[in-house]
Amino acid sequence: MKLAWTAGLTAAVSLIAVGAYAQGQNFANVQIKTTPLGHNLFMLEGQGGNITVACGQDGYIQVDGEFAPLHDKIKAAVDRVCGGKPIKYLINTHFHGDHTGGNAGFAKDGATIVAQENLKLRLEHGTTNANGQKTPPAEKIALPTKTYTNEGIQLMVDGQSAMVNHPKSAHTDTDSYVYFAAADVISTGDIVSTGNRYVTIDYKNGGSINGIISTVETYIRMGDDQTKYVPGHGELTNKAGLQRYHDQLVQIRDAVQNEVKSSKTEAQAVADKPLAQVGAELHTNQMQDDTMVRAVYQSLKGAKANKA
Ligand SMILES: [Zn+2]
Repeated sequence: MKLAWTAGLTAAVSLIAVGAYAQGQNFANVQIKTTPLGHNLFMLEGQGGNITVACGQDGYIQVDGEFAPLHDKIKAAVDRVCGGKPIKYLINTHFHGDHTGGNAGFAKDGATIVAQENLKLRLEHGTTNANGQKTPPAEKIALPTKTYTNEGIQLMVDGQSAMVNHPKSAHTDTDSYVYFAAADVISTGDIVSTGNRYVTIDYKNGGSINGIISTVETYIRMGDDQTKYVPGHGELTNKAGLQRYHDQLVQIRDAVQNEVKSSKTEAQAVADKPLAQVGAELHTNQMQDDTMVRAVYQSLKGAKANKA
């Protein structure tokens, strides 16, 4: 999604684009970039959400799987770093197609798909986002076979351990983040999306701006100066980077909150351009700024999510 994100599609519009973009996109030229994180962990970047891989002696754990057509390239890249070990677990950080598109392919490789139970429901039943864009129900093999509710779960392969936890309502209500303690790596999912874009608040599928902010605060508390954070999109970051990201989110939330407190309608809030300053820092365009104002406004007003 890197091109789409930076080409100026708004956060909400790029949500729509995930499905259409995946179909229309030529994946032939995508290369998988691999970055070592220590302790036999690796960050993989192709197209779509970032991937984390933890290689063990008897198999490996993977976080997110990008788009279906990239399966073979991702698997080849993992084989290079993990030495051809089988995939044991594929954890989905949330239900969006640029993170779960690879599920079927990796399930066929023998992976147990792991996710919070809301994710299974949203994949199983299909979803509609804030723009009315529908994603059809996923095929059965793509559904998680190991789900958890609010208590986190621990997954192990020989030599690696992953703690999976669920922030109640953040990017969506299907979110998981993964902590690899030995390597001191946290895979954040799309709650953290760095670069020239806003985080997406998928409030029609249970996301909220305040949930995103409090989850980023959890990530900051969990880490120290050595911790590596693999964001859902964008470059690997650290605690200082996450703190800057957090402060900007608070600035965004507060700017739109002022509009709400002044009893402005959504249209008036957009017209006031409360994100002009942040937008200048992020190098976003007016459409991105306006879409973010709308999403934060709706979230602060308590817009109802669709049933999972
Ligand atoms: Zn997402």
